[in-house]
Amino acid sequence: PTAPSVMTMNGHFASVGENAMAADFEHGVQIVDQDKVFNENLPAYLQLENITRAGFNYHLISVFGSQSTGKSTLLNYLFGTHFGVMAEQERRQTTKGIWMSKNKKEHALAEQKMAENILVMDVEGTDGRERGEDQDFERKSALFALATSEVLIVNIWEHQVGLYQGANMGLLKTVFEVNLQLFLKDSRNIPRSLLFFVIRDHLGTTPLANLRQTLIQDLQRIWSGLSKPAGLEKSKIEDYFDFAFVALPHKILQPEKFEQEVQKLGTRFREGYKDPKRAGLVDEASEPILLPEYHRRIPADGFPMYAKGVWEQIDSNKDLDLPSQQELLAQFRCDEIMKEVLVPFDEVIVPLEEQQNQSVALGKPAAISALGITMTTARKVLLASFEEQASRYHKSVYKRKQTELEGKVDGRLKTLFQGQMSAAHKSGLNDFSEAVVAAVKAGQKKSGNYDFHKIVQTEKEKALKRFESEAQASIVSGAPWSDYKQQLNLYRKELDEVSGRLRKEEMRRLATRSERWVRSKLDESVGLEFNKLGSGRAGSGAPAEGDKPAMEKDLWDRIWNVFTDTVSHAESRFTERARSFDASPDEVEVGLWRLRRKSWGALRNKIDEEMMEGNLLLKLRENFEDKFRYDAEGVPRIWRPTDDIEGLYTRARESTLELIPLLSRFKLSQTSAAPPLDAWIGEPPSDVTPADEEDLQPIGGVDEDEGKTLEDEMTILGDGKAADLATRFKKTADGVYVEAKRSAIGGMTQ
Ligand code: GDP
Ligand code: MG
Repeated sequence: PTAPSVMTMNGHFASVGENAMAADFEHGVQIVDQDKVFNENLPAYLQLENITRAGFNYHLISVFGSQSTGKSTLLNYLFGTHFGVMAEQERRQTTKGIWMSKNKKEHALAEQKMAENILVMDVEGTDGRERGEDQDFERKSALFALATSEVLIVNIWEHQVGLYQGANMGLLKTVFEVNLQLFLKDSRNIPRSLLFFVIRDHLGTTPLANLRQTLIQDLQRIWSGLSKPAGLEKSKIEDYFDFAFVALPHKILQPEKFEQEVQKLGTRFREGYKDPKRAGLVDEASEPILLPEYHRRIPADGFPMYAKGVWEQIDSNKDLDLPSQQELLAQFRCDEIMKEVLVPFDEVIVPLEEQQNQSVALGKPAAISALGITMTTARKVLLASFEEQASRYHKSVYKRKQTELEGKVDGRLKTLFQGQMSAAHKSGLNDFSEAVVAAVKAGQKKSGNYDFHKIVQTEKEKALKRFESEAQASIVSGAPWSDYKQQLNLYRKELDEVSGRLRKEEMRRLATRSERWVRSKLDESVGLEFNKLGSGRAGSGAPAEGDKPAMEKDLWDRIWNVFTDTVSHAESRFTERARSFDASPDEVEVGLWRLRRKSWGALRNKIDEEMMEGNLLLKLRENFEDKFRYDAEGVPRIWRPTDDIEGLYTRARESTLELIPLLSRFKLSQTSAAPPLDAWIGEPPSDVTPADEEDLQPIGGVDEDEGKTLEDEMTILGDGKAADLATRFKKTADGVYVEAKRSAIGGMTQ
């Protein structure tokens, strides 16, 4: 609940601070008021004074001392501040609570230049007369000053020196006590402070060295009188404090000398290093007093929150635990810095994330251009600015938050990277198969003779190169997870799979071409065989009685031979071609098996076409007429009444009729059996897929579960059809006979 909204670093302060004006800070800022309430305007003030962004480059100095001892006056002279001072006529307290102001003093000479960003705290003094009545605030303000300040100025009149019972000694006792309490928690890591005694109204009769001696003795006495917490009984005052002393002349009586000395004193507020030979004392009149070891190491942007946290703990009388305060501060500030550095990061990355999500949602994964460099830069800037600001805080908190931030950011960048890779993957595979298909098409158009294997290899190489260069351009350099080896392997594997699919398609194309070739060959050669049926004397002279012409007898042998020769030729061409593009022996085997089956289908179709009733009847009539109307020399007969027209008719008719049973069955003459189609096609290869079988017609005697036998498959004409055909043929023959008869008689009458 203490995390104040005023803590953001870029000057976005809440309500009060937002409208704070320079005029409101004329006297500095009252960081703790008389009611002990912490002022929310501290961040606004630091912002106004340009300290927020100073990192560790700032200093904090506090002043202590009794009321009305000229503390505020001294600070105003030293630092050009405008702390309220008591008017010389009225004697009442002016400084209430704790005020802070930035050093306004500019020293002209370079060697007198004060450190940058000195913040001075003017602490309400305790009035000797009222001592004991408000020790609560005295204690709390001392604790607060010790927890935050590098230098504690102890303001004291010369005539108070040596008054061991005096008000100042009471204050110092308080300071020492709270100091012990403060560093109890972290005794190994004690930051030292400088107690800088400024002795006012120094008359000069007692030398400063003597005054210093007296004060040191008093301090030792106070220290040894303190009851120390367990473990610190043996601790010495020098373990915690360095001391320095300076004396100033009377401001009213020697105003010029006073100002001179104050001027000189001002030049000591420089940064410097302690001479190791003079440990514990910083006492040369001109020595710098802002030593690194005094710095509390609270980054300037975290100071308001730290101060507020410390004050609230002190004010609620809780044990002040500075290490855990610093850890809390670190957590809070690191979270804030994380949010801040994510703003410019998100400005760059969120649109890319949206773009990617959108293209995925549309199902069109598209690559984001220059993704790698964009992500690399955004990541680098983010981590660098986080480091710059956050590394000033508590180390282990910073490390933890850095890991957290890196994890958060890298998770998102990795998603982007992987999305990019998967887009490259998808479009790469797509482009690859399109390119292969296009090259095949071009090859077909050009010569029909293209090298499929080479096309695939070339396109695959291109696809891999494209992928790698896209991956390279998407890499986040400096991010250990940004690597695409795995994706590349997967891509290569899937390219191979796509290649396999494309090869299958190419196989199909090759198969189609082969089948078409077989079909056209069969069309021609089988057609020729059937045409020969039209000639009853084909090749072997006149038909001898009862002896069918050889041509007719071994029709099916010739068809089977021409068929198997054709297919075998196609098979060897198919094999050669398929091997050229790396088809596996199994794939080739399946292709050949399919080719044989398809070829058989083509032959069967061709036969059926030839055997269509009209065609067949025509062939039978031609066959018959050839036998009947022509003599052995092929000369048409002129019928005379003396001719044995009836005998010739009967022989020719019977001879032709014998063709019908011959044509009805596909049968080889040597074996009188069906050709060995089942053996010729062969068993289906072991890795035939359902897709391979999808478009295949069942073949009787080969596909047993079809319920058709090889005999069925080889039946070209059913018995009914054959009988019907015989009847119709006889009618046609009768017509021819009648005509012959008539022409014989007609010839005679002429
Ligand atoms: P503070 O209460 O300690 O902050 O004291 P102030 O700075 O308000 O000064 C109290 C009074 O002491 C004022 O009237 C000053 O003019 C006066 N005063 C300031 N510096 C000196 C000094 O060096 N010597 C003497 N004698 N009076 C001083
Ligand atoms: Mg004052």
